[in-house]
Amino acid sequence: MTRKIAILGATGSIGKSTLDLVERSPERFEVTAVTAATNVETLAQIARRTGAELAVIADASKLQQLQDLLQGTDCRAAAGSEGMIEAAAGEAELVIAAIVGCAGLRPTMAAVEAGRTVALANKEALVTAGELMTNAAKANGATLLPIDSEHNAIFQCLVGSRDEDVSRIILTASGGPFRTATAEAMGAATPAQAVAHPNWSMGAKISVDSATLMNKGLELIEAHYLFGLPSNRLNILIHPQSVIHSMVEYVDGSVLAQLGSPDMRIPIAYALAWPERMQTPAQRLDLAAISRLDFEEPDMTRFPALRLARQALEAGGSAPIVLNAANEVAVARFLSGEIRFPDIVGAVAEALSRSRHDHPQSIDEVLQIDRATRAEVEDYVKAGAC
Ligand code: NAD
Ligand code: MG
Repeated sequence: MTRKIAILGATGSIGKSTLDLVERSPERFEVTAVTAATNVETLAQIARRTGAELAVIADASKLQQLQDLLQGTDCRAAAGSEGMIEAAAGEAELVIAAIVGCAGLRPTMAAVEAGRTVALANKEALVTAGELMTNAAKANGATLLPIDSEHNAIFQCLVGSRDEDVSRIILTASGGPFRTATAEAMGAATPAQAVAHPNWSMGAKISVDSATLMNKGLELIEAHYLFGLPSNRLNILIHPQSVIHSMVEYVDGSVLAQLGSPDMRIPIAYALAWPERMQTPAQRLDLAAISRLDFEEPDMTRFPALRLARQALEAGGSAPIVLNAANEVAVARFLSGEIRFPDIVGAVAEALSRSRHDHPQSIDEVLQIDRATRAEVEDYVKAGAC
């Protein structure tokens, strides 16, 4: 039996890895819908290669071009947010939510409300709308399968367990490129140094987040909503080799870990084949060659992003939205050379201290808080106030 899948964000890094796996196992999958932001040529190529029935481009001005590129195929072209929602809530039973940022919120929610199985890479969806998403999943019988490698590891370690038997979750973090750097060196860090992740190859934004450790902070919030544990039972442990992707400690003192080479195709394959498993070309672990695994406590002084993220998680409501939006603006300003590396976290701290405590009741309200925070942070970053 083939599984019908929709890939939201098919042209991105997660989208490409998903397509690589799907195309290696054509007997298992049928791609019904694919989407992209603006890259109409690549989207059309993907639609042709996979035989998708629907291709959606977010940028509506490119619809005609997409239609032209799809001529002679059975694939229908659509555009804009309605098209995205159609792709998310269409006939696919498994939806890969791999759009980056808050643009992924509405389509991901549409898939959840349609009761689909949603393989979730878009971490912003859980960080900014975690309660709304998980409540909607319960109400509509949707299943959330995490693709983020740490959460996928935890999901695997939790198989068959009862909630009351779990004592804590241990999220591992590589520590990023500045794990051993001095505060002075971090103060002078360039964008090129910040995006040079030691273990994973990822987009620029998430690579900077790995350098500030904000990525781990966002993952802490993501873990809270996915697995329902309070902040004091979610721990972070630095593990520079990125071999253990996360762990679960049980009440009897047993600790289960998931290990693997740092290749996103492993967690993606787990979600694609769930509850079965499938072959991947990922490199096998050679533990004798690796020979040792190291661990250390995170340094909260050099990496204040961890403290801010925990503060936002504990405050709840709009605080994680503000954290995420302020961080995105500040990272973009750092990448374009306008602010220094420590100013990223400075801008986030400032945004959190200014924010009111709202409790958004809908995706529209989440997006409103997101937009307002971005505008405010843009203003005071420009004014040099952080
Ligand atoms: P990416 O930038 O490589 O790709 C993003 C995809 O989203 C592209 O297909 C793009 O066309 C689409 N997109 C961007 N803006 C859009 C918009 N406004 N409307 C509709 N579509 C839009 O990102 P990525 O690295 O593949 O990451 C995707 C998500 O997965 C992110 O939330 C990221 O945090 C998360 N994630 C990625 C990795 C990784 O290894 N790359 C690991 C863990 C989690
Ligand atoms: Mg991760």
